[in-house]
Amino acid sequence: MTNAGANDNLYARFRACARDPQKVFLTTPEGRTVTYGALFEQSERYAAALAAFGVAPGDRVAVQTDKAVESLYLYLATLAAGAVYLPLNPAYTPSEIAYFLGDAEPTVFVCDPQHKTKLEAVAKDAGVRHLETLSLQGQGTMADAALAQEEGLPCVARSGDDVAAILYTSGTTGRSKGAMLSHDNLASNARALIDTWQINTDDTLLHALPIFHTHGLFVAISTTLLTGGAMIYLPRFDVVEVMRLLGHATMLMGVPTFYSRLLSNNEFTKDVAAHMRLFISGSAPLSAEVHKAFNARTGHAILERYGMTETNMNTSNPYDGDRRPGTVGLPLPGVDLRITEPETGEPLNTGSVGMIEVRGPNVFKGYWRQPEKTAEELRENGFFITGDLGRVDDDGYVCIVGRSKDLIISGGFNVYPAEVEAVLDEISGVAESAVIGLPHPDFGECVTAIVAPHSGCELDGEEMRNIAAQKLAKFKVPKKIIIGPIPRNTMGKVQKNVLREKFNNLYLD
Ligand code: AMP
Repeated sequence: MTNAGANDNLYARFRACARDPQKVFLTTPEGRTVTYGALFEQSERYAAALAAFGVAPGDRVAVQTDKAVESLYLYLATLAAGAVYLPLNPAYTPSEIAYFLGDAEPTVFVCDPQHKTKLEAVAKDAGVRHLETLSLQGQGTMADAALAQEEGLPCVARSGDDVAAILYTSGTTGRSKGAMLSHDNLASNARALIDTWQINTDDTLLHALPIFHTHGLFVAISTTLLTGGAMIYLPRFDVVEVMRLLGHATMLMGVPTFYSRLLSNNEFTKDVAAHMRLFISGSAPLSAEVHKAFNARTGHAILERYGMTETNMNTSNPYDGDRRPGTVGLPLPGVDLRITEPETGEPLNTGSVGMIEVRGPNVFKGYWRQPEKTAEELRENGFFITGDLGRVDDDGYVCIVGRSKDLIISGGFNVYPAEVEAVLDEISGVAESAVIGLPHPDFGECVTAIVAPHSGCELDGEEMRNIAAQKLAKFKVPKKIIIGPIPRNTMGKVQKNVLREKFNNLYLD
């Protein structure tokens, strides 16, 4: 994709695609409007401010802010300055931030003005040269510095292989690693999604995801900018607000919890969703139940796709064609996907469950300053070992059965949590379930379920075990079913590590 003399900076590509400066790029529920012309003008002022702070191409710019419109200027400014964008979850505490700053050594760190005092020490220890601020309302020293610039910075030339962003993985096992994503990684994946989902300049995306994660930052924003489309920009997901705005949008990108929350609102009807062209789900498994209930309520089949920080998006259900509940669809154009035996890495036959590996222009450049970790997960032939277990059906649809670290080995038998969860989720009164393996003196690990009821429903663990036993082999039936809440992170992922820790001694005491 790189061609000599051309500027492959993602920012230059965004700019080249927006042909009409008057066209509205973004609106907010409060009635704020940003045109494409204003977006680029502002972003280049922010870029000039970064350059004035001494940010050179390749330097890192770390950002922990709320979802301000100005945070988008800052993201684009970082690209335009040829620097590397490093977004951080606003929920991270100063001690967590200390790790990211120490590891990435950014030149500039932009935080919320309210948190500046408690972050000063960690920024100093990490050698950050400028600690700047930006609030949800777009105020702070970063915005002031941009305002003070006489003119914007012209986009710095980058090659397609240069790193555009570092996103830290959620780090449920060990310390999180910084995934280095290149300009070409991001651009090629956005193009594949635009083609697959038929995104065009007339689309309006309802943007309700956080912007520190691949989903809300790249999938949502790159596809909008590369088509010259529009977005309605919400600071967070709010069911009532989303329902009100669906009539003004054509697309929603969500995590599965968006859809289950919409369904639990009785005012969410077919009419409310009538204006929409496409509902997309990803970042965590969408249950077949929710898929079917959503279809029955609105007539829309949610389109589920699968990706991860290191690889961008890998597969998607088709736009025209069968959007199959419980599957993540087919590999995207340009993406090779194979299933291998987890121990040996040998490719497996169609239909066998094994490790999902992917290769393509979407796959990242490696982990920041961790060549050994990179070598463990990225094969020399370019395949990335995703850590997800799955199978490919005869007609090419990919089905994920769980993370390999969540696989339960009980009495020598493999138990895939997703299979057990699907059976439990079908039981009347069950809102959701999480199946984990817990240490057991006899079995090694013991299948255990945590089940959350629908509000107002009473559930009985023993009764549920009996129902599950009619559908599942004995070794897969949970030994114990605990009724209780299921913890999820901001991206809607079930935090099985939290549950494993909480119930670790269940069979040991
Ligand atoms: P992250 O890097 O935080 O985006 O997490 C990536 C992980 O989320 C993947 O490796 C999968 O385990 C999971 N994931 C993403 N999309 C899906 C999906 N549609 N179905 C099941 N799991 C998914």
